[in-house]
Amino acid sequence: MPRGAWREAIRVIEETLFPGRCVVCGSWLSGAVCDRAPVCGECRDLLEVLPEPRCAICGIELISEKITCMRCRGISYSFHSNVSLFAYTGSAKRLLASLKFEGRSRLAPFYADLVAGAAAQRGWSGAFIPVPPRPNRRGPDAVELVARSLEGRGLSVRRLLRRTAGAQQKSLDYEQRKANLRDRIHLRPGAAAVPSAAILLDDVFTTGATLDACGKALREAGCAEVNAITLVMEE
Ligand SMILES: [Zn+2]
Ligand SMILES: [Zn+2]
Repeated sequence: MPRGAWREAIRVIEETLFPGRCVVCGSWLSGAVCDRAPVCGECRDLLEVLPEPRCAICGIELISEKITCMRCRGISYSFHSNVSLFAYTGSAKRLLASLKFEGRSRLAPFYADLVAGAAAQRGWSGAFIPVPPRPNRRGPDAVELVARSLEGRGLSVRRLLRRTAGAQQKSLDYEQRKANLRDRIHLRPGAAAVPSAAILLDDVFTTGATLDACGKALREAGCAEVNAITLVMEE
């Protein structure tokens, strides 16, 4: 067995035997805390919530602007508004990496609570639509893990979109990303009618190009209102 696989197997055994440990720092949790969120109070406090005021469209922190950021004044997105739970720094980065690359599915309910809360706080209704992962990506799909957890609490999740292969997005700017995604995100063949309101769910907000492409596919299919919740915002 390769070393990485051993380490993964040991981690799974540890988590099964000691479910009361914080997934970020490994310290022991009290039963009440670990039922809902396997993150200790200290690590939770280190998660950086994006400060208000935020841009009404993309959700980035506003410095001296009013209502919308400079970037959003020059762009017309197909979604109305995005909210990101945390800034992509320190603990939030480590936490998301645990979910994304190590498949710590115990973290999914932690994010699902916050996602459901963010939607309720804004009065957003409608089905959650997971942003589809790149085809052939390795590792667990963090968005799908959170989506299942939302479903588990009775919220509507519709997997209406699919993505076909394209170039890597990482080093591209907004316009390049947008061009790269054009025609790569579609409604699934045979998908049922789209809901009138949708909440896109994605892990990282970078330029908004992915949400824009998903929003476009939903709007073209008749969805009147598309909002988005992302787990972190990369600045
Ligand atoms: Zn901790
Ligand atoms: Zn903005």
